[in-house]
Amino acid sequence: MVRVTDRSSKIIMLEYVFKSLSVLAFDVMRLTIWLVLLVAIFVPLERLFTLHPARIWRPQTGVDLAWYFLNSLLPAAFIAMPLALLARVLHGADPGGFYTAMALLPFWIKLLLMLVVNDLGAYWYHRAAHAYPVLWGFHAIHHSAEHVDWLVNTRAHPVDIVFTRLAGLIPVYLLGLAQVTDGRLDPGVVLLMIIGTIWTFFIHANIRWRLGFAEWLVSSPAFHHWHHTNDEHRDHNFAFFFPLIDRIFGTAWLPHYWPPVYGIDGKVPSTLSGQLIEPLTSIRPANPRQTSTSLTGHP
Ligand SMILES: [Zn+2]
Ligand SMILES: [Zn+2]
Repeated sequence: MVRVTDRSSKIIMLEYVFKSLSVLAFDVMRLTIWLVLLVAIFVPLERLFTLHPARIWRPQTGVDLAWYFLNSLLPAAFIAMPLALLARVLHGADPGGFYTAMALLPFWIKLLLMLVVNDLGAYWYHRAAHAYPVLWGFHAIHHSAEHVDWLVNTRAHPVDIVFTRLAGLIPVYLLGLAQVTDGRLDPGVVLLMIIGTIWTFFIHANIRWRLGFAEWLVSSPAFHHWHHTNDEHRDHNFAFFFPLIDRIFGTAWLPHYWPPVYGIDGKVPSTLSGQLIEPLTSIRPANPRQTSTSLTGHP
């Protein structure tokens, strides 16, 4: 009897391992297809409209590709848990019929509001990540790139990604712009994630396009490249989508020329494991430029 039970539990465990590996293999295949699409879009664009001359395979390309796969798989699991908890807390709540009214809004209006609210939440977390050394250690991995191109979008510590996404999504759920049903993500949130992902690849791209007046309506490579500069203008342009947010809070910087230098003071480890572990084991000293950026005042 005991042997039968042991055998059954072994079979269940093997089935579980096989199922998990199948899901992982499917995810890796899906991400590889996305990567091929991104390469097909951005590599020719960066060859045709080069801002700063660069090789396609530069130092850190391998590490950035590893970040692409890791960050596409790992943070989602950590984001799902608090959102599921929030959904449980909000379940059945409808103060003054507010959530019912929000649910009745047309999909495209809700999507636009989601983009704005998500960007506002992410903006304030992003400012905090520049202001507090304990958060800057995680965020500095993203800023460590001394050459900015589309793939640099993937170089970010998972902790930084989890906090940024939660800062954007929690207000979206609190305002009733999205609902969690049957554990599935709201279609609006899925679309928000797709738009956000494609756009953040674009604003990192090494292309010299300027969008004229539109640069004040929607973020552009010039807008975000200035966020990556390693001079006194780094603590600007925190919004990922709407530059107007930076204008309102006094953190916008968008001249007609491009930043001369990218990166941070000091170095981060050159390996994936080093970049993953360093912010967990040490606090990066405060950056001199952070003295000019507080969470309450203008830069
Ligand atoms: Zn930043
Ligand atoms: Zn960036």
